[in-house]
Amino acid sequence: MATTATRVLDNYIAGQWTPATGATDELDVTNPATGEVLARVPLSGSADLDAAVAAARAALKPWRDVSTIARARKLFELRERLVARQEDMARSVTTEMGKTLVDARAEVARMIEMVECACAIPTTMQGRVLEDVARNIDAETIRQPVGVCAAIVPFNFPAMVPFWFLPFAIACGNTFVLKPSEQVPLTQQIAFEELDALDLPPGVVNLVNGGREVVEGILAHPGIDAVSFVGSAPVAKIVYEGAAKTGKRVQALGGAKNHMVVMPDAVVEETVNGIIGSAFGAAGQRCMAGSVVVTVGEAHERLMPALVGATERLSVGDGIDESVDVGPVVSCAARDRITGWIDRAVEDGATLSVDGRGASGDGPEGSSFVGPTILDDVSRDAPIVQEEVFGPVLTVVQAASLDEAIEIVNASRFGNGTSIFTENAAAVRRYRHEVEAGMIGVNIGVAAPVAFFPFSGWKDSFLGDLHAHGPDAVEFYTRKKTVTSRYFSSGQGHGSYFVEH
Ligand code: NAD
Repeated sequence: MATTATRVLDNYIAGQWTPATGATDELDVTNPATGEVLARVPLSGSADLDAAVAAARAALKPWRDVSTIARARKLFELRERLVARQEDMARSVTTEMGKTLVDARAEVARMIEMVECACAIPTTMQGRVLEDVARNIDAETIRQPVGVCAAIVPFNFPAMVPFWFLPFAIACGNTFVLKPSEQVPLTQQIAFEELDALDLPPGVVNLVNGGREVVEGILAHPGIDAVSFVGSAPVAKIVYEGAAKTGKRVQALGGAKNHMVVMPDAVVEETVNGIIGSAFGAAGQRCMAGSVVVTVGEAHERLMPALVGATERLSVGDGIDESVDVGPVVSCAARDRITGWIDRAVEDGATLSVDGRGASGDGPEGSSFVGPTILDDVSRDAPIVQEEVFGPVLTVVQAASLDEAIEIVNASRFGNGTSIFTENAAAVRRYRHEVEAGMIGVNIGVAAPVAFFPFSGWKDSFLGDLHAHGPDAVEFYTRKKTVTSRYFSSGQGHGSYFVEH
């Protein structure tokens, strides 16, 4: 229940915490484990976005006047500041989103790793030079910032996903506007307190709370040059098309349905641990969550008793309690959608090996729990195999051979991540070669690349060219300029560029 004393979140614009002036509405931010209202988030309007974009444009010149090395030093300082707030941010993630504290700490560690990767910008942003493309003529490609960059992010990683973009964007000399998820806006308030303490030129980083209206404003805004999106597949498409229509650079990471193929020789105990961490960690609300197990041949018989037993032993509760294995899902609406998926799969003939629907009645009013659920004997064409559920629901499909398993994986319209569990290198070699997905795990349940490598899927899981973080971030956040030059006073004589190269 919100009270009159409930804090209404500010935006951060031009170096100042600023109340939304054009808000069309406010929403409760709720702790999904307790139902407690933590704050209210304004749904900012176009005046707020305009102010943020104007500030970001005005900051482009002063920020470019800061040397690349000095920009990197700001990121070193940011890294230290975030480390000092690591536990605060992890607790904030758990409180507003629901994942366990252990999971939240891992998320914040990965967030900080993004800043560490961006600290290398004086090396990673370097261009290329070729001397003597013709006699006495040199060619070089330099990298320059793109301009004002915006990011629109989902609820499931309140700390990390905004930092797939922000540190790289500003390291490259861009200025930035973030629209957090309106469901989980609190953790970025902490991150922005630390950004504020860096004394960057006002407007280098801006935060505009809101929902759809801010997103539509970003897509249409003539003052924004690049847009990064992470969220569901239908909205990824809207963002990709909308941003492209107004000539912006765009990358849009969408939804997923990730398969975990288990070969007959897989090491059962480790495979079960990997599957459980992937399917039920963050209550299945990860774009890299493995939500379909494909057993090959007798793997089914070997795996299932151990998998079902370990799943039944998982405890469900408030993730802030460190003994809990699975926290709530993000909202009551999400809970009802997920239990609806389970109902439908059972009606369609799935065997309910573990039923998590009972947990939905647990917890205080306004909380939203769904326990880990396993649906076995599911047909490969069933909707629950094809569509993203985004909850702690694992579906098991059987394949007769590795060929059939690959066919099942590749039939999906998504292609985010997939894993294979086996000790057979030849099977791994075939799998990684043939499977249509952007991120592959070998005996790893959540094969999310570290900050120093690019992150993204294929097919409906990704629209765009350049992936998130790693080397792709520098590509996305810079424009290339190629200079061909010669000088006449070198004393070396000079040739003709066109004739001699
Ligand atoms: P979502 O698509 O509902 O929301 C994402 C963002 O888009 C939010 O900031 C939201 O305010 C905005 N938005 C929502 N509906 C909109 C609309 N109609 N028009 C304009 N903007 C809109 O996603 P979510 O529920 O917050 O996050 C879960 C989804 O994100 C899952 O599908 C998950 O797979 C995906 N995800 C993907 C990746 C990846 O790397 N591919 C990573 C994390 C999450």
